[in-house]
Amino acid sequence: MMTGPTSLDLTAGLVLGTRNAGKLRELAALLEPLGIRCQSLDGFPAAVDVEETGETFAENAALKATEQARALGLPVLAEDSGLVVDALGGRPGVYSARFAGPEANDEANNELLLAELTDVPSRKRSAHYACHMALAAPDGTVIATSSGECHGWIAKSRSGTGGFGYDPLFIVPEYHRSFGEIAGEVKSMISHRGRALRAMVAALRQHR
Ligand code: IMP
Repeated sequence: MMTGPTSLDLTAGLVLGTRNAGKLRELAALLEPLGIRCQSLDGFPAAVDVEETGETFAENAALKATEQARALGLPVLAEDSGLVVDALGGRPGVYSARFAGPEANDEANNELLLAELTDVPSRKRSAHYACHMALAAPDGTVIATSSGECHGWIAKSRSGTGGFGYDPLFIVPEYHRSFGEIAGEVKSMISHRGRALRAMVAALRQHR
């Protein structure tokens, strides 16, 4: 969704407002073929650590884009994403990265997810990934937003080594496999992040 006619110069590239290696890889793989050169925060000493204080994915995406854009004086595309598990009342949701604690890694988060779902039968293990994106101009104004979802099931054990985060446990119904077992190109076609990014692309093209 575009929110204003602000013009944006992306000729020098587009800063992706994340340090998550899995997200960076997936976003760059989708943007670079469109001729948009992606830059990670690692190249910018002025980048800030944005506290994710929002209660929704949309709020956190806007916070990350706005604060990082202001700190760098550059356009920033940021996203907030996570896993929403029905049997857990929507948890871990916006807390997906820190489900097992503030310093939790993927392994600990997956372990806790399996533990919390121990007594939940297969038919009740539905879940979806959600991704919200925000594109901010150098002054921090959010000029475009988008979102995407990907629905599936939580397996009873891990499979595959691809992707990142909860992917070895997330079963995609169309393929009867986990995202950990599916090629990155295929994940991008059907994932929450791929969907949100394609919805954002029209806005990016308009501002090039
Ligand atoms: P964020 O950095 O606060 O947006 O946290 C996102 C977290 O959600 C990640 O650290 C993962 O735990 C989870 N997540 C989001 N997208 C994916 C995905 O595509 N695969 C696996 N886990 C994901």
